Amino acid sequence: MTGLVTRFAPSPTGYLHRGHAYSALTAQTAARRDPGGRLLLRIEDIDATRCRPEFEAAIYEDLAWLGLDWETPARRQSEHLADYAGALDQLGARGLIYRCFRTRKEIAEEIGRAPHGAMEVFRGAPLPPREEARRLAAGEPFAWRLSLEAAEAALGGFATLRFLEEGEGPNGEHGEIRVRPEIGGDVVLARKDVGVAYHLAVVFDDALQGVTHVIRGQDLFEATHVQRLLQALLGLPAPVYRHHRLLTAPDGRRYAKRDRAETLRELRASGVTPAALRREMGFD
Ligand code: GLU
Repeated sequence: MTGLVTRFAPSPTGYLHRGHAYSALTAQTAARRDPGGRLLLRIEDIDATRCRPEFEAAIYEDLAWLGLDWETPARRQSEHLADYAGALDQLGARGLIYRCFRTRKEIAEEIGRAPHGAMEVFRGAPLPPREEARRLAAGEPFAWRLSLEAAEAALGGFATLRFLEEGEGPNGEHGEIRVRPEIGGDVVLARKDVGVAYHLAVVFDDALQGVTHVIRGQDLFEATHVQRLLQALLGLPAPVYRHHRLLTAPDGRRYAKRDRAETLRELRASGVTPAALRREMGFD
């Protein structure tokens, strides 16, 4: 019997903070509790515009300091862009994606113009072929979006699609969760400047790496809907999900990179020991 396989999948867009440590230690604890348990580390560095080598180097250093033991080498997504492009092609060959030339601003305006509540997320459609050809010839940038309409037709509806939540979503969601891809709309699967976007790379890698349990923060609970849909469309196995609570600072706010929350390196420099940090967060 094969054991639990889980992963910690940070993006090197900043230094790790307490929230990351909590997530990584939650995954490690689950892997250790399972007799055949394994913990993988995945560097989610597909967005070259935001990722930096010094942040990646710091991830290895900070996690080692924390006492995390992951299998090496870590998978670095930037080394596998052709794999993700292949998955995108598979969806494209089945008419499940379309080119969207709208800018972020145009999308926001379109959502804003719709009658109240009628359009909270973007849903679109391919342009007429001649219009699309004209824009392509003019070199206009575009993103590939997943067509929920085409996906629904391909699967004969979403009614039977489920994922298993063994942890808890932000509203206490637990157990068999019915997949509602419409909450995310026609998500972007690839962008001109990045090549592939987060959802597709995560789904592809979780399957390729044999991840049986996705253990991550509740901030990604909603993303699971579209990720489960992509698994179904690509014929990939569905892992079990264990979303965990988000750690909050003493002022009640959650730790986040953008708030310059205390980083693990700052904690280390100020003399905090890994053992103290683990204890503080309820581990060991
Ligand atoms: N790379 C994502 C992040 O840093 C996490 C992806 C995941 O766990 O599915 O937030």
